[in-house]
Amino acid sequence: MTLTVVNPATEEPIAELERAGVDETDEAVARAREAFPAWRAVAPGDRARLLRRVATLVEENTDELARIESRNVGKPISGARGEIGMVAQVFHFYAGAVDKHGGETIPVAGGVAATFREPLGVVGLIVPWNFPANIASWKLGPALACGNTVVLKPAELTPLSALRLGELCLEAGIPEGVVNVLVGKGSVVGQRLIEHPEVAKIAFTGSTEVGRLVMQGAAGTIKRVTLELGGKSANVIFEDADLEKAAAAAPYSVFDNAGQDCCARSRVLVQRSVYDRFLDLLVEATRGVKVGDPADESTEMGPLVSASHRETVASFVEGEPTFRGDVPDGPGYWYPCTLVEASNDDRVAREEVFGPVAAVIPFDDEADAIRISNDTPYGLSGSIWTRDGARALRVARATDAGVLSVNANTSVRVQTPFGGFKQSGFGRELGMHALEGYSEVKSVFISTEG
Ligand code: NDP
Repeated sequence: MTLTVVNPATEEPIAELERAGVDETDEAVARAREAFPAWRAVAPGDRARLLRRVATLVEENTDELARIESRNVGKPISGARGEIGMVAQVFHFYAGAVDKHGGETIPVAGGVAATFREPLGVVGLIVPWNFPANIASWKLGPALACGNTVVLKPAELTPLSALRLGELCLEAGIPEGVVNVLVGKGSVVGQRLIEHPEVAKIAFTGSTEVGRLVMQGAAGTIKRVTLELGGKSANVIFEDADLEKAAAAAPYSVFDNAGQDCCARSRVLVQRSVYDRFLDLLVEATRGVKVGDPADESTEMGPLVSASHRETVASFVEGEPTFRGDVPDGPGYWYPCTLVEASNDDRVAREEVFGPVAAVIPFDDEADAIRISNDTPYGLSGSIWTRDGARALRVARATDAGVLSVNANTSVRVQTPFGGFKQSGFGRELGMHALEGYSEVKSVFISTEG
């Protein structure tokens, strides 16, 4: 069955692809299985060189990859270029990590115990549509660095950059069969990868609902699983914060990528004493977000990924919001930047909207901020704005989330671990921590008795 890939900014088809089914999935797993012994045996320095070569090829093809990503996801081109820059950085980082991820020697009676880090085998990588190349690289980099072979399944809405990345891996000299990219439905290809007895691990990013299915399906073969799921993160603004700076940054912590971001700080918690003033500043800053043609270098927000996703996002906004921005006329799955004053019990504050809708919620004091911030089933990300360093650290330590920033929006860096608490998932991507999820620890005892 053919898959038509659409540009969400124009609603026009941009590619027709053949969909893989169960048979093609089994064939890809068999290719990856066959390639595994030779790939795990590649000397660390050589494996590092190959990953470095992928990074360089990504750099050399940044413009093409960014355009593919922008047209397929509807991302502003400037943001897409930054994301492809990160893909290159990820491959550089894991090229450097290949020969720095070793074991230990442990003193024990009668000899010595050594630990080794062994690859898992074939790993299934299931990635979503919001940051297709980026999230694929977060899994590919450490999986390959550890000596695994992979089957990568991009989301059907946005498969184009993953296909191109697969080609660049081959061009870099990574042997055939090590990286296999399969386009097909999650419920078919994804499900088969989850159940396949020859797949050792599933690394999944997507909805908490499908994350549950991954865990259930993996139980049959005791597969390793890492899950990076949804979020409902808080942007906490204390009365002693630099309010102008916090308000100028806040729109980009939720409307970047049109809000289709698991780290979106979609609950803006504001101390009651500065609530009205901050809300005025936030409305002004949101009014300034430039929404429009993703191909325009100055555009800051594009459309949503699909018509059905736009319907879902719209269902969260009841009545007249506090602020609603403008969107272009004509085709495209546009949805305006929207601010809603809410209570933390409202649906818009409890569920992941995954669109440009922020819920603004007042709080009384530090304890109240922590209580509201943690009053969610999710625990991925968040920001804390205050000039009091001790408070920043107290609140950060008390917040049930995997990735936090103080007086800043960003939560994703190549060098630092990324992942969630609670129903935002488990396991860590990026940084040296990710390597733990793609290797097993083996302990070998060597007797020194004569
Ligand atoms: P999904 O979780 O459905 O999709 C993520 C990936 O999982 C895609 O590659 C998808 O394939 C695949 N998949 C879907 N069903 C299965 C299955 N039964 N077995 C194995 N793999 C499967 O997310 P949606 O695209 O439907 O988005 C829904 C909501 O999820 C969003 O509105 C958002 O709230 C959240 N989300 C969170 C993301 C994050 O970064 N944490 C990313 C994306 C979504 P395919 O789509 O090709 O069928």
